[in-house]
Amino acid sequence: MPELPEVTTTVNGLQRVLPSLRISSVWTDLAKKKVSRKDFEHTIKSEKFFNNFKKLVIGAKVLNVERRAKNILINLDSGYTILIHLKMTGHLIYGDYVYNKKVNAWLPHKNERASLHDPYNRFVHVVFTLTSPRPSPGKGEGVKHLVFCDSRKFGKVTLIDTKTAHETTHLKGVGPEPLEKNFSFENFKTQLQKKSNWPIKQSLMDQYTIAGIGNIYSDEMLWLASIHPESKISKIPNLYLKNLFTAMKQVLNKGIDFGGDSMSDYRDINGERGKFQNHHNVYQKKGIVCGKKSCKGVIIRSIVGGRSAHYCPSHQKLFK
Ligand SMILES: [Zn+2]
Repeated sequence: MPELPEVTTTVNGLQRVLPSLRISSVWTDLAKKKVSRKDFEHTIKSEKFFNNFKKLVIGAKVLNVERRAKNILINLDSGYTILIHLKMTGHLIYGDYVYNKKVNAWLPHKNERASLHDPYNRFVHVVFTLTSPRPSPGKGEGVKHLVFCDSRKFGKVTLIDTKTAHETTHLKGVGPEPLEKNFSFENFKTQLQKKSNWPIKQSLMDQYTIAGIGNIYSDEMLWLASIHPESKISKIPNLYLKNLFTAMKQVLNKGIDFGGDSMSDYRDINGERGKFQNHHNVYQKKGIVCGKKSCKGVIIRSIVGGRSAHYCPSHQKLFK
């Protein structure tokens, strides 16, 4: 699942291209008369919601794009915000697309860069057509598409009031942003202590404790801080927590610097892979000798709080 570094990479990309563009139409093949889950009623997976969504977004201009936790917020000049959560396999791509009637699907224009033709980018389920206020002369120029690719179709696309966005069920109560300058070690400790009985790995991944961290980056930061993922928060010495706080920032920033992690489906807005998967120390490294200097441990995988955890049993200390 895309985490803070992947969502940041996408948001930074969108912020470079979307502001001032106007939405001229929206298409989806996800909208259904009867939704399979109650919470889909307030997303474009509901036909009724989607019809209203179209009315409210068509004609609106994009002001800017922000991230909150793992959510992408596209703020419009009409007072609404399009909220997108990529979930397991979602990613957003920006480019020239053409609707192909024969196959009932949107395909990248034949002249588009090769990365858009990557099989992982084929699962187009939502398309926003965008027009520039200053189109360059020439046929077709000035029209672009923002497409949502999502092979597993777990992603969420909805519309909320910009003013009350942070009070909606999508964002209310979400924990602090770990990379914000004012997020101090004391804040970090206070947040973690709210779930002092939980294993540290589970707490790091809980969106109400700290925003944006998931499976990959929690494994990597615990490895770096030499803490076993099952350690109980209340038993971890202060010095180790300090190391974890530093490791958290380091690992997340490294993820952003490498353009995110594309071990799974994630692609940036140009359809390109991130590179963080080439720099894992522990995630998906089961059976590999630990890369920490002078450590001879072998990476193992186990289940912590219902999720898989990868760690080195030799240098990652268990506090229980
Ligand atoms: Zn080790």
